[in-house]
Amino acid sequence: MRRLVAGNWKMNGLSADLVEIGQLRTAAPPECELVVCPPATLIARMAQMAAGSHIAIGAQDCHWAEKGAHTGDVSAPMLADAGATHVILGHSERRSDHGERSETVALKARAAQLSGLTTIICVGETEAERDAGRALEVVLSQLAESVPAPCIVDKLVVAYEPVWAIGTGRVPLQDDIAAMHAALREALCEGFEAAGAEIRILYGGSVKPGNAAEIFALPEVNGGLIGGASLTAADFGAIASA
Ligand code: PEP
Repeated sequence: MRRLVAGNWKMNGLSADLVEIGQLRTAAPPECELVVCPPATLIARMAQMAAGSHIAIGAQDCHWAEKGAHTGDVSAPMLADAGATHVILGHSERRSDHGERSETVALKARAAQLSGLTTIICVGETEAERDAGRALEVVLSQLAESVPAPCIVDKLVVAYEPVWAIGTGRVPLQDDIAAMHAALREALCEGFEAAGAEIRILYGGSVKPGNAAEIFALPEVNGGLIGGASLTAADFGAIASA
């Protein structure tokens, strides 16, 4: 299975930062699938810069409708038209900042897949949920409710991102990452039979050049979703090399 490393720039990035894409072309190995997800304002220009390279461009969200009266939103066909090939959906910051529920994530994912976008669906427990021993239950129910039905399986990527590990410098124990990824794989194989074994499951949450190799070596970790460390070509390239 080809590994995937995706960078989530969040609400960061101005025209001057496009230079990072030029540098990433040489800093990152072509063996792994590399996706950079800038803010919507940079997608079209970044896609032009990345054309002909091994770097794909993604978005951080989309609306579930194709077009219409949804002020401020961007639809999946618009993202594809701008040159995006991937979209992150259900990130914990969208779930907390915008009250986004898993059912909404599934609607968005269906629309995105029908527009040809690969959907990176995020799931993850809060610290309180982990402390209460509910991490597995929470993550598996988010998965069940966020994956669209029907689903275009080769357009599905799952990212396990414990909320308490995002942007905090804290990373779960290796055994805990491995246990969650094993549970996600089991659920995907139950849902999609043999095709479930081919769905990439990414780990996200404070992945840095210094810890990427050990995290990526864990069973059923098929790549990473990277926030802060994706903003510079040097760090993101080092993580992709790991
Ligand atoms: C993220 O926002 O998806 C993320 C994993 O952030 P960070 O790498 O900064 O923890």
